[in-house]
Order: sequence, then structure tokens, then C-alpha cells
Amino acid sequence: MLRVTPKGGGADFLPYGCQLIEEDDIAAVTAVLRSLTLTTGPAVGQFEAALASATGASEAVVCANGTAALHLAGRALDIKPGATAIVPTLTFLATANAMRLCGAEIVFADVDPATGLMEATHFAEALARCPDQRADVVLPVHLNGQTGDLEAIARLAKRNGVKVIEDACHAIGAQAHGASVGANRHCDLTVFSFHPVKTIAMGEGGAITTNDPQIAARMRRDRSHGMTRDASAFANPDSFDASGAPNPWSYEMHEPGFNYRANDIQCALGLSQLKKLSRFVDIRRALVAEYDSLLGDISPHVRLLTRTRACSPAWHLYVVRIDFAAAGVARASLMRHLAAQGIGTQVHYYPVHRQPYYALRYGVTRLPGGDAYYEQALSLPLSARMDLDDVRRVVDALARALRG
Ligand SMILES: *Cc1c(COP(=O)(O)O)cnc(C)c1O
Repeated sequence: MLRVTPKGGGADFLPYGCQLIEEDDIAAVTAVLRSLTLTTGPAVGQFEAALASATGASEAVVCANGTAALHLAGRALDIKPGATAIVPTLTFLATANAMRLCGAEIVFADVDPATGLMEATHFAEALARCPDQRADVVLPVHLNGQTGDLEAIARLAKRNGVKVIEDACHAIGAQAHGASVGANRHCDLTVFSFHPVKTIAMGEGGAITTNDPQIAARMRRDRSHGMTRDASAFANPDSFDASGAPNPWSYEMHEPGFNYRANDIQCALGLSQLKKLSRFVDIRRALVAEYDSLLGDISPHVRLLTRTRACSPAWHLYVVRIDFAAAGVARASLMRHLAAQGIGTQVHYYPVHRQPYYALRYGVTRLPGGDAYYEQALSLPLSARMDLDDVRRVVDALARALRG
């Protein structure tokens, strides 16, 4: 299989995550490059329709990246200064940052140390720490590609008037409680990322799915300067000619927005990749099953990630939990040792509440579940480029390293 060669790595280097680009993906992108429309063209709507159908939502809004998608989602739900957002500490920075950039104050929730997931109990405990015990929005994060109990989280959110944005950047292709992630069965909006390490690659890209056409229209305006060409929304008389028809050039702006658009090159790649979603998910599941069966008994200090109920995961990362202290090996030296053998690993994630910005703003918060998960987590290589031999090579190297 074709391999990428990252800086400093050999031809056989296995990164912790990587896209799989095939000839038809390249052809799809080339076709756009040969066309007259590189942005705001037909591929944008085609990708949105395909994503809506893949997730079961009525609409999908594509944008520049997953972080922009979270920002658009927060703004569409009127998250603004004075608002409170509950975010699990075990996530990428963007989940918290996007709400903070909407103006919300963040209350970090703890997670289950065996899964890294915020469950309803952690949400309830974070809610109790919010000013006046109320919050505007909560963001369950489907860490590694599996979800927590979204029904229980949705019930608690509804009882407390809290809106729900699912951060499904890891979980395209997953199902929870019998529904596709992105169908919004248990939330208001769902956010995806199509960064190359994620399951579907657009280079950079993100999207929000929704079942509310007005929210979708609002996000489409917000991703493109807040402009509208919908004459029924025009407020200025001089947007119309003497006969009352809208001028051919007229557009209006009622609320300033961003340029968060995804272009046709990105969307053509996304569309081509989306057609392979079930194959990519199946490959990842097979690799994960092989890891699970081989890692089960390499060391008493190695444990598998706990699986949640009611979820059929679509794995973005393969995380193994290692008790480094008991194994007598430092995580950093293990990572360097594996990298020297062509095996890329990573840690997902440093708890966000401990980042200097948040620690300074909110003081010391004790979130022992997040800390415990972080202490033991190590992401091993997982991508649709890999085969079962790659998994065996990684497990052999890890077993040898842990034996010392
Ligand atoms: C990747 C990721 C994001 C941000 O997506 P980008 O496309 O990189 O901006 C947000 N949340 C989580 C959980 C992610 O993994």
C-alpha cells in the first residue's frame, strides 16, 4: 500500500492518523480545477445533500473546518456574552474555544476515566457548579468515535432548558441508540470535522447538520459575511427597482458574519470521500478488533478502552490505556522509542481545563476522571490505509517496549 513519508520518518512510517486518498478522489478534485467554478459552485450543495442523506438530518451546512462549524453552531443557537457552556475537559481545544469566542463562559465537565466521555452524571455535576445552576448549552464530545448515553444527556438537558450541540468530529458514521450520529435525535445540532486525520478528508473542512431550515439558513448567511440575496428578507427600499423587482446586484447584511466557506475543491474531495464512508468505517472497525484481540494480554498494565452501551462506534482513534507508572516506563520515552521504529503515537488530549488560559480564567477545577484518563491514554496508529499486519507490527513493538 502507498505510504506517506512524514518529515523525519521512513517510507514505512505509520502515523497515528492519516487520510486515504485514491485515484477517484484525485479525479474529482481535478474536475473542479478544470471547471470555471472554484468556490460557491455546485459541489458545495452536492456535498451538503450527500452529508444530510448520510446522517439522516434534513440539512447539512458545510464550512471551512470543524472549529468554524462549532462557532457557527454556537452563534446559530444565540450563544453570546453572559451565556454558560458546559464542555467536557477531554476534548480538542476547539470545543471550548468556539463557545468562548461566542462570548460564553465555560464550565468544564468531568468524564468517565475508562472512556473519556462525559455522561449525564458528569453533566449534572457541572450544571451544579454553573452560576445559578443554569447553563445555555452543553457539548457532548464523541471521543475516539463512540458516544456516551445521549438519551440520558438529552433528558437532563431538556429538563434544565439547556441546548445540546454534539461535537461529532470523531464520529462520522457512528450510530447511537439506533440513530445515525448527525440525525440530531438527541440534540439541536451536530458538528463534524473533515481534517485529514479524521475518517473523511477534505484537506480542511467541517459541517453542521440540523433539522431546522431557519437555523440552516442562518448558518449559511453567517458563513458568508451575513449576506443575503433572499429578496423576501430585504429591508432597504433601494434594493428594488421601480417595478418592485429586486435589483440584479442587490444583497443585504442584517448581522455581520465571517468568511467560513468551504470551496468547491474541498467539497468535491469531501463528496468523493463520503461515498466511501461505510468502507472506511468497516476497515477501522476491523483494525480495532485486531488491536483488541492482540492487546488483551500483552501486559497487566495495558487495558482496552471501555465500550459504551447503545453505541455502534465509528473509530477515529485507537486509544489504549497504559498504567505507565506501574509498567515502569515514561510515556514520552515510549513514544520516542516507537517513533524510532516507524510507529507514530499521540496523546488525545491534555485536559482543556488545565490549559493556561482556562486555568487562569477559572482557577483550579478538580476533574479527576479527565486527569486519570489523560494519564493513561495513548493513541496507536489507526487509518484506512492500514492492514492487519500493520496492527501486528505495532502491538509487537509495544509489547517488546513494555517488557523493557
Ligand atoms: C478535529 C476536532 C475539532 C476541530 O476540527 P478542525 O476541522 O480541525 O477545525 C473539534 N473538536 C474535536 C473533538 C476534534 O477532534
